[in-house]
Amino acid sequence: MHTAGAIGGGTLRTMSSTKLLSIVGPGRSGTTIIASVLGEIDGVCNVGELRWLWGRGILERRPCGCGLPPDECPVWSRVVGKVREEGSESPAEIVAAQGKLASRRQRLRVIRSATRGQVDWPALERVRAVTQRLIPAIVDVTDARVIVDSSKRAHDAAVLAGLDGVEHYVLHIVRDPCAVAFSWQRRDKTVHIGDRTRTMSTRRLLPSCQRWLENCLSAEVLRRHVPPERWMFLRYEDFATEPQAAVARLLAFLGEHGTPPFADERNIVLGVQHTVAGNPNRFRVGTVRITLDDEWNRRMPRRRRLAVRAITWPGLLRYHYPLTGGLVRRPGRPGHREDSRGLPATG
Ligand SMILES: [Zn+2]
Repeated sequence: MHTAGAIGGGTLRTMSSTKLLSIVGPGRSGTTIIASVLGEIDGVCNVGELRWLWGRGILERRPCGCGLPPDECPVWSRVVGKVREEGSESPAEIVAAQGKLASRRQRLRVIRSATRGQVDWPALERVRAVTQRLIPAIVDVTDARVIVDSSKRAHDAAVLAGLDGVEHYVLHIVRDPCAVAFSWQRRDKTVHIGDRTRTMSTRRLLPSCQRWLENCLSAEVLRRHVPPERWMFLRYEDFATEPQAAVARLLAFLGEHGTPPFADERNIVLGVQHTVAGNPNRFRVGTVRITLDDEWNRRMPRRRRLAVRAITWPGLLRYHYPLTGGLVRRPGRPGHREDSRGLPATG
């Protein structure tokens, strides 16, 4: 939800009718643009990467999608005020607890506890307790029926899966790791917002591949803890090739009937959305064209591609990406089967 007019409806929806969508997938896989498309639909609130609210948002005062720091934003200032009315923990304490959950050793433990009730783990209990107050506060302030969180990491989605009184859904997005590695390596990648330019951060080839694999493996572990009808798999390439069809599938998955912001087959019109810190693409407003960004296929040296494919091959097999060569097979091509959730059928 993006308009000031939608703010402060003051309607306290019952939590049982709130749908919470976690978008999980490696960075640079289109998670931000897909969340932005959903955020334009009536009744849907795209909150950006919710995991950053307390650290980058409240403590570092990095701007919301509206350009204001969260403590001045008309949405987040009210949301955070409500959350803090009911609890005594400081933002620094919340960030410290989040940090304990995010360590490499602990992430799987968080994911495995996704659907368990009580857990004897103070850090997880603290993060869950704050999030349990945060979601109704967002609903109360925005009057949203569906909340979209593009935090991307499976263990953050697991925290949401463990909340009481919400319908939790997961959208798992994967993009060809060559495209992801190419995007992370580009030093010239910038986003223009008004008269300002924001530079995208960079990552070297090996860490990019490792993160891609880790993200995919974590998502597969999480998937075991999510009911099949609440899990949807989508390849970025399939979204970018036929965006309207992909969004229609996504809405059907969520049981929603709103109108997505397509001006035509490929162009969407985005307004200001109150997204907490994350990918600079969230600041884009106006007409945005969705295209399959396949520049890597022309510019990425062959030896680098082969290196990426050699490291990430288990994921390539799982998600039907080529083990050698270039672009992904197109959807619907013979040999590309999908199960009812859109997950490439294995075996
Ligand atoms: Zn805002």
